[in-house]
Amino acid sequence: MQYHIWTIGCQMNVADSRRTAAGLERLGYTPAARAEDADVIILNTCVVRQQPEDKAVGRLNQLRRVKERHPERILALMGCMVGVKETAALQARFPWVDVFLPPSDPTELWALLAERGHLDEAQTLIADAEARRLALGRADTILPPSEQASIVSAHLPIVLGCSHACTYCVIPYRRGAERSRPPAAILAEARQMVAQGVKEITLLGQIVDRYGYDLPEFAGAAETPLVTLLRQMHEIEGLERLRFLTSHPNWMTDDLLRAVAELPKVCEHIEVPIQAGADEVLARMRRGYTVDDYRRLVARLRETIPGVSIATDIIVGFPGETEAQFRHTYELLAELKLDKAHIARYSPRPQTVATRTMTDDVPQEEKERRRKALDDLQAAVLEELNARYLGQTVAVLVEGRHVRQKRWFGRTRTERLVFFPAEGNWLGRLAQVKITWTGPWSLIGEIIR
Ligand code: SAH
Repeated sequence: MQYHIWTIGCQMNVADSRRTAAGLERLGYTPAARAEDADVIILNTCVVRQQPEDKAVGRLNQLRRVKERHPERILALMGCMVGVKETAALQARFPWVDVFLPPSDPTELWALLAERGHLDEAQTLIADAEARRLALGRADTILPPSEQASIVSAHLPIVLGCSHACTYCVIPYRRGAERSRPPAAILAEARQMVAQGVKEITLLGQIVDRYGYDLPEFAGAAETPLVTLLRQMHEIEGLERLRFLTSHPNWMTDDLLRAVAELPKVCEHIEVPIQAGADEVLARMRRGYTVDDYRRLVARLRETIPGVSIATDIIVGFPGETEAQFRHTYELLAELKLDKAHIARYSPRPQTVATRTMTDDVPQEEKERRRKALDDLQAAVLEELNARYLGQTVAVLVEGRHVRQKRWFGRTRTERLVFFPAEGNWLGRLAQVKITWTGPWSLIGEIIR
């Protein structure tokens, strides 16, 4: 019996896919490289912008033929295309899909496999236990055995859903209200990941800094709950690096910043989207801060966390964004010189406030022009920032090997991608690499030890 999971979208989806794969492997399934060869095919989808949604629909249409030839195979649609409530419309649109799985919740798949007779008695018991474990939020094997020992860096969701409702964003409507997972479950999963060979864990949440405010464990606590969790995670032996994302400017407390600076395993890298560089646009996005607030946050980060690397997200062409407002974003990015910027063209998403109350009035070509202008600017910024690494020796956590180029690759604590040639097996090791070449997107170096 074979399975195939196709994943698109955020790190949360990657984590959900791995967890689902782990469940399938516990039931005796093995991975298939091609969807066409698998008995169970899962598409884990993203609808945060139009493009990933179009890709998923394309895959679904291709798989229709596979389902027609092999009706006994199971096709599951998972993730944000499904959402948390109604699937009737999707069922009508894609009747060849067997089961619809909400984000982070494959429970229905286990039930269907048992019902369809895909599982024998013992496997059905395992599937039942799997469903119960998920319902209770207990720890389980989160990495599929087929991938264990090859995953050096893993993602661990700690806050599910989102209740902020930025006007452009579909996530609250697809992943449901914000809820934190109990620390005991998170720590148990983290320990299990480390026992399975993981060296770096990235804690995930839409606003990850809001972790724990909804949990009785942290009621009345003086410390920011995420700080408490980071300290507990820090104790895990064998774990080398800790990260967390995504942050929101309004929730980055002083003690959180200090914890990043003080806890050696916590990497000095912060992902905190600004989304726009003009106050009027930020207000209409309902982000809850001004450009000056963000400026001050960047200064605070740089002051408190030595050598901090800062990544951001920006949306261009939000409804009503004028050329002057776009220029503000451009100038801000040139001024702040951040370490990474992910630039997206705005696309209207169903149910969102922006779609319901605003007109998508920036033409597609204009959105593309703005995107490209920011991308070019950021490439120049990165070229300059990365040149500082030349001649330096950096610690690289090795994540894999480029087979054709015969080079190992990994990341610095500041999320720079580094390639280096070396004999022997470096996977999962911390290599000291002296940088000999730098570009905007990666660095190359030679191994010191
Ligand atoms: N919760 C995170 C990230 C959410 S989605 C946050 O606080 O920002 C990841 C990124 O996708 C966002 O940061 C945003 O830049 C982009 N995005 C979200 N909705 C979008 C839309 N409708 N059009 C274009 N980009 C969008």
